[in-house]
Parts: sequence; C-alpha cells; structure tokens
Amino acid sequence: MSESWDVVVVGGGNAGFCAAQSAREQGARVLLLEKAPREWAGGNSYFTAGAMRTVHNGLEDVADLVEPFDTRRTDLDPYRAADFLGDLRRVTGDRCDPALADILVGQSRSAMSWLKGLGLRFELMFHRQAYEVGGRFRFWGGLAVGTVGGGKGMIADHLAAAGRRGITVRFGAHVTDLLTTQGEVHGVVLSGGERIEATSVVLTSGGFEANAAMRAAYLGPGWDLALVRGTPYNTGDGIRMAIAAGAQPYGHYSGCHSVAWDAGARTTGDRELTNQLTRGGYPFGIVVNADGERFVDEGADFRNYTYAKYGAEILAQPGSRAVQVFDAKVAPLLRPEEYAAPGVTKVESDTLDGLAKELGIDEARFRRTVEDFNGAVTGERFNPTVKDGKRAEGITPVKSNWAQPLDTPPFTAFPVTCGITFTFGGLRIDDRCAVLDTAGRRVPGLFAAGELVGGLFYFNYPGGSGLTAGAVFGRRAGRAAA
Ligand SMILES: Cc1cc2nc3c(=O)[nH]c(=O)nc-3n(C[C@H](O)[C@H](O)[C@H](O)COP(=O)(O)OP(=O)(O)OC[C@H]3O[C@@H](n4cnc5c(N)ncnc54)[C@H](O)[C@@H]3O)c2cc1C
Repeated sequence: MSESWDVVVVGGGNAGFCAAQSAREQGARVLLLEKAPREWAGGNSYFTAGAMRTVHNGLEDVADLVEPFDTRRTDLDPYRAADFLGDLRRVTGDRCDPALADILVGQSRSAMSWLKGLGLRFELMFHRQAYEVGGRFRFWGGLAVGTVGGGKGMIADHLAAAGRRGITVRFGAHVTDLLTTQGEVHGVVLSGGERIEATSVVLTSGGFEANAAMRAAYLGPGWDLALVRGTPYNTGDGIRMAIAAGAQPYGHYSGCHSVAWDAGARTTGDRELTNQLTRGGYPFGIVVNADGERFVDEGADFRNYTYAKYGAEILAQPGSRAVQVFDAKVAPLLRPEEYAAPGVTKVESDTLDGLAKELGIDEARFRRTVEDFNGAVTGERFNPTVKDGKRAEGITPVKSNWAQPLDTPPFTAFPVTCGITFTFGGLRIDDRCAVLDTAGRRVPGLFAAGELVGGLFYFNYPGGSGLTAGAVFGRRAGRAAA
C-alpha cells in the first residue's frame, strides 16, 4: 500500500508540530508521523518546563503574549536581540553558527506570537524564574515566558491545534528510511515496510540522547550510563537516515545538554514527574562528590547558564554521583516542585557529620570541605535576583556568587547523577531549513528542524532555547517544505 502527501513531518514534538502547522498554512496536505504510541505523545517537548527564551522589550511587550498578571509588582528588564545573541555566543564559546544564531534570535519573538495565534498559551514563569524581594517579583537570567502547564500543556495545545487545522497525526508510525531517487527525497518507509510518498519530508525526530550505543560512540566513555531525562524514542533515527541520504553531519557531536538529576530516577523519562527530577537549586548550596570534595563553581552564573553543562561534570565524578547540600537558610529558595515533591531522593540531619554518615561520605573529609568553604565566604549582601558577587575565595573551586556559610541546621542533601537532555550534533541546514549534503548543496526534498539540527549549541546552552529553536526553525522548515 502507498499513499501520497505534500509534506510528511517525521517526529511529533514541538518542532514537528510547528513544521506541520506552517506547511498547512501554505495550503499543503500534511501528515505527521510519530514513532511513539499516543500515550507517549510529544517527544522531549512533553517533558519540558515549557520555558521559552525570547527577545522582548520588557513588561508591556510580554503582557501581549501571556496570561494576565500583576504588572505593578513585577520587574522584568527588556531582553533584546543583542542580549540573546550575546548569551548564546558566550555560553557556546563563540562557536554557534552565526547564520543560525541570527535566525533563532531575530525570529524568536515573532515565533511566540505565531504560536499564540495557533492556540498555545503562555504565562510569566513566576515560580521558576523570579524571586520575591521587598514585595516585588524580579525576573532574572534572561528567561521569563513559559507555556501554561509546562511541556504537558504545550503538547495538549499542539495536539488540539493540529486537530483544528486538519493536520493528520499518526502515532506508532516508526519511520525507518527515506525514499530517494537519484539523490532526491520523495517519501519515507515505515517499520512495517509501508511506503508513504511526499513532495517534501521534514525531519524533526530529535537527537540521539536515548541511544546508549550512540552516546558512548559520540559523547565518550561513560555516557552510555547516563540517565535519559525525556523520551526513550529519540534514538538518532533521523540523523542516521539523513546521513545515509548524503546529508552533512554538523555541530558538536561530542557535546550534549545534561543536568543534575535525581540519583534515584529511572533510566528514561517519567511522564508524571517530567522535569521535576531536575535539581536546579545548587547555586544556593554546595555540591560535593562521593569523596566529600567540591568540584564546580556552583555560583558561576545564574542557573540558566550553568545547569546544562554541570551534568557532564557529575558524570565525571567517582560513581557518576554527587550530592547537593543546603542549610535551612536557603531552604525557602529551593523550588518545591523539584525539592519537596513525593519520591525526591533526600537525606536530612541536624549535624554535618550525621549528614555525611547517612550519605556514606567520609565524615572528616566532608567536615573539612564545609569548614574550608565556610571560612572562605566573603561579601555582605546575599541577593538571589542578581549576580551578587558574594564569593567563597581562596579555595578550589571558588564559588563566584551566592556564597553563604553552611551553618544553620537542619542540613539537607540531595543525591544527584547525570541526566542527559539532548545531543548537540546533528544535520547541517541552510536558512530555509533545507538539509545540506557534504558538498554544501541542498538534498532535494529534505528539510530539518529541532534537536537534530547541528551547529547552534556547543559545550553549553542558554536555558529555554531548545523549544524556541524548534518553533523558529520548525516554522521555517514547514513553510519551505510546502
Ligand atoms: C526534562 C526536560 C526538560 C526540558 N525543559 C526545557 C525547557 O523548559 N525549555 C526548553 O526550551 N527546552 C527544554 N528541554 C529541551 C527540549 O525538550 C528540546 O529542545 C525540544 O523539545 C526538542 O524538540 P523537538 O521537537 O526537536 O524534539 P522532540 O520533542 O523530542 O520530538 C521528537 C519526536 O520525534 C519522534 N521520533 C524519533 N524518531 C522517530 C522516527 N524514526 N519516526 C517517527 N518519529 C520519530 C520522537 O518519538 C519524538 O516524539 C527539556 C528537555 C527535557 C528532557
């Protein structure tokens, strides 16, 4: 049996739904093929906090986009194109592809309005990107807007919008090959052998983070043991198929986004807890390994600019484990969704020795680490909404901001390991999201967007950029494909 469509989209996450919608807007007949069963709809996008980094001109501009909020008690600085671009270049060591970066940044705001027009709902993320200081909520870290209901809400909205616009979605449709004739892509093959013809194919099937063999091969030894934060279905299929069709591998193949993740989490994502297994409060405490030693600057920057590279640091520690330690002073700053949810792996004690004992860490070594740290703390005013420069100096590693002595019981400790989010290496695309071959020419009929596009992220990532990239490039890919 063979059927024929204008545009076939492979992969039903945020990028896939955006590509499908924009192709449909051009009048194309669109089929979206999703490998997972319906119960696993939404790919990694489902597991997200729904945070989306976008350029904006401050409160008034954002108010147009989001659900109503109390503007009189909210402080939000504008986040301009130069800010977003600057953050992207800084955290990627200036390696991000300049053309892709310009498109991502330049079209971030219009993509948000477009999504809103499709029926997606946004809100200001008071619960994760702002702190209340002196009766006012102050946003920090260049990230303020998120989808209502996080990733779960986003995918529910995408599915509803796809239904309204007449986009056909097939679940359990595992694409295994591209149909090609003389280098031109004209459809796909499903795992059962079914062939589906299409004028254009858009690949939005994610990275290879859920493929242990590819992780070990590309990211390096030990990465096969990382826990997967999201969908088990992103196994690099689209990247493999496209490369077999002549596409050019591009970007940071040995790099990925990975975070501090509950050490007791399962090997792949939990559809109920989703993003709540992240442990993002480390800027307010210290992080030690199984030997009781610190190994990162917990306060190097706002969480949004460090969390995506600290998973790799944890993976490199003995047993690929670490522990985040806090005292009672900072407990109110830890997000309850992450630190007080049912099932959180946690140890608590009134003494540091008691904590070390429970954790199986040498008590004397742990005590010395804390004493050294406490003795190194400088500065006066602690302020979580700015990089307060309150440092721990003269120790290795230093802590650059938010350093306060650990001296107020009870002490709490949260064992963490490395949770991989997505991989950075992928396919090379041009400004129309056409996939390029190894000679830099377009592979006719083939487009790509989302996680499997290479060249945007290297070493690190500004939080909230993945969903925005999926929206911006998905929208462009769908339009070009149609
Ligand atoms: C826990 C967690 C929290 C996150 N939080 C955020 C956040 O708040 N903000 C943010 O910007 N980013 C966040 N991210 C990153 C974000 O999820 C990704 O950047 C983004 O969702 C990628 O979208 P995508 O559409 O490219 O991929 P996905 O959403 O993963 O969709 C890819 C789809 O392709 C399907 N597929 C794979 N292979 C095939 C095949 N052979 N045939 C058919 N279908 C196939 C998969 O099943 C999947 O549904 C988070 C990720 C995780 C895991």
